[in-house]
This record gives sequence, structure tokens and C-alpha cells, in this order.
Amino acid sequence: MMNILVLNCGSSSVKYQLIEAEAQKTLARGSVERIGMTGATLANLRHDGDEIKIAGEIVDHTVAIEYILAVLLSRNHGVIADKSEIHAVGHRVVHGGEAFVQSVLITNEVIKTLRDNIELAPLHNPHNLRGIAACEVNLPGVPQVSVFDTAFHQGMPKRAYLYGIPYSLYTQYKIRRYGFHGSSHRYVAWRASAFLRRKLDTLKLITCHLGNGCSMAAVDQGVSIDTSMGFTPLEGLLMGTRSGDIDPSVILYIMGKEGLTLGEANTLLNKHSGLQGISGVGSDMREVIGEMKNGDKKATYAFDVFTYRVKKYIGAYAAAMGGLDAVVFTGGIGENSPDVRRASCEGLQFLGINVDEGRNVSSEKEKLISADGAKTAVIVIPTNEELVIAMDTMEIVKTLRPEPAATRS
Ligand code: ADP
Repeated sequence: MMNILVLNCGSSSVKYQLIEAEAQKTLARGSVERIGMTGATLANLRHDGDEIKIAGEIVDHTVAIEYILAVLLSRNHGVIADKSEIHAVGHRVVHGGEAFVQSVLITNEVIKTLRDNIELAPLHNPHNLRGIAACEVNLPGVPQVSVFDTAFHQGMPKRAYLYGIPYSLYTQYKIRRYGFHGSSHRYVAWRASAFLRRKLDTLKLITCHLGNGCSMAAVDQGVSIDTSMGFTPLEGLLMGTRSGDIDPSVILYIMGKEGLTLGEANTLLNKHSGLQGISGVGSDMREVIGEMKNGDKKATYAFDVFTYRVKKYIGAYAAAMGGLDAVVFTGGIGENSPDVRRASCEGLQFLGINVDEGRNVSSEKEKLISADGAKTAVIVIPTNEELVIAMDTMEIVKTLRPEPAATRS
């Protein structure tokens, strides 16, 4: 038995799950919020439904991990009796750059490479590094593994990842498409192959991760050969507050017209655009759909731009792969919105896509929503990035200690 602590460390938050990897069972999950601020809290949910919320002075990531361990070990709300029952830690790390094509055991050398990548992900990688250091303090000697959002897309060919700018900017600054949400795309592609009872290496899949951030991937024989997010998670689909694809000149034009600084332009595109920007209603798809159904015009525009873009990428990726076996929807919107799925697939019968409305609105979580006889399957699969992180971590740690339980006792 191997228990893996899966961590997702942000600037002021740490999300965690303790997963019994072989059984694929989450023992406890929760999050620490407002690290380093007043009113910091930890909320924990145990597998049996027991919930607890604690307030405390959580000044940094090291204290956050201390709190998490205290809860996991607590007599009334915990799930383990001793720290040694945590056999490894798996970290979600946003940016692996070109250095990491798969998950890796964290060594001093890996930490150095992660530091070198900070410039590529200034908002994320520093916090991941803090989380790693915090585990070294709180769980000394416990192996740590890094699972990258970018790694799954490292199989893309040059024609998919190069931008049309001077090649020297790629060699000098590593400016290229990286793609994100890799663990989610990988997980749902794997689940889709199990669902369809076909080997992944025989399938041409388009995976649509539609959450607050949205991205799509063309997964050909298990390899992501193209994806809609780019150098940063700003490119591609319309998102809650991000613009997605835009003519780069628009940015320069607005900066000139409104006298925006670089930082302000960045905020405009990342925080005030997308569903929120067009609709004026908010970044939450439920609210946008609600207002659309009340007849609000701008909410309708936002919904239409969102779903039209998903449809365009389906067409593009079917062309890139020269065929299509299945479209997979996941993420908060992809899993829960029949309206988005219907509109995104509408008019794609020529690709063999035909959504069955009864199936589309059914309450099942994992489901086939295409009509019987449709050439291309359309499937909904709830994502589980934490499980991917736990499984990768287990596989890597197993190679270090074939029998962790035995060596511990
Ligand atoms: P994150 O990307 O932060 O992990 P999620 O994957 O949870 O976010 O997705 C959040 C999005 O899912 C929000 O836009 C929310 O409105 C949307 N969502 C959740 N449930 C529904 C629903 N029933 N219908 C439409 N959208 C939904």
C-alpha cells in the first residue's frame, strides 16, 4: 500500500489530497487558503464525509504543510496514525519548459532546472518550489515527485509549437507553444480509451478541458500533437476571464489608445476579458447561460464566441490528425453543461459527430453522449488530475523502493 500526498501549491494557497494509490482512493482532501495573510484557514474533508475548518496563523508554505499534516494525523479528523504512512509527495508543477517530457523524482538538479524555468512561469513555479522546500522540512527523507502541466504536450512536432516570429527568439528565450492542463488531457484520453474499449495507440481523440481555464488537445495515438494554450495559458479558447486567441495588434492598439502599461495590458487580457469581458455578467459559465436564457444579448454573444471557438478547434484538430474517433469533454463546464456541449458540436455531422440530446442531459457523470451509429463518439469524462499525479508518483517511487511498506516496518 502506498499513500501519496498530492499537493498543488499556489501563491497563497495549498490544495491537497492524500491518496491511497493502488486502490485509487482519496483518504482526505482539502485546502489551505490565505497563506501569509490574516484569516488563513485550512478546510479538510475526510473520505467518510467528516469535515473540519481550522483558522490559524499560517505564515508560509512550511506552516501550511505543518497544518495539513496535523489534520491528517489528528485523532478525531485524521486518516493516518504516523507521518511514516505518507510514502511520497507528488507536486503539480505548472511549467516544466522543454527540460521535462515526463514526471520526475525531485533531486537538487531538478530543483535547479525548475528555478531556471521561473521566468517561463513567474506566477506558478516559485510557489511550487516553496512547497517542495516545505516538504523537505516537514517530511524529511520522503521522496517527492514533480508532475508537469506541460509535459504531456512535449511530443508536439515543431510545426505545431513554433510561432511565426524570428527563430532566434525561440532559441534565445524559449518562446514557443508549451500547452497546459497536460495531466487532465492525459487522464481523460486514457479513460476514453478504457471507456471505448480500444487501445489508446489506435485512437484519434480531441480532448476539451473546459473549466475556468480552457484548453483543447489533439491526442493522436496517445500523443498530444497540438494544443490550444501556448507560451502561456492565455492562448486559444475563450475562458472565464482570459481572451484566448486575439490578433496581437489589438493589444498594441489598445495600449496606444488607452495608454496602458505592460502590466495593465496583461491584466486586461488575463483578468477582464473572456466570458466576463464580453458578457459583463461574470466569468462563471452558469451565470452567463442563466442571463442568456433571460434574453441578455451580451451573455449570448459570450456563449456563442465560447462554443464557436470550441467547434473551430474540433475542426482544426480533426484536420491535423487526418481523422477523428472521439471528442471528450471535461472540466467544470465540459462535465456539467449540456448547453455548451450541444452548441460546440452543432453542425459537425460531416465529421461523424451527432449528439443524442437525451444522453447529453442525463445525470450520469461519465457517459457517452453521441447517438447510436454515430461514426465519432462524444464522451463526457470527469477529470482527475490528482489521481494522475498520485499514479505517476507511485510509479516513480516504486522504482526506488520496490516494497515501501516492507522497508518501513
Ligand atoms: P478550474 O479550471 O478552476 O478547476 P472548474 O473545472 O471547476 O474550474 O470549472 C469552473 C467552471 O465550470 C465555471 O465557469 C463554472 O461556471 C462551470 N460550471 C460548473 N458547473 C456548471 C454547470 N452546471 N453548467 C455550466 N457551467 C458549469
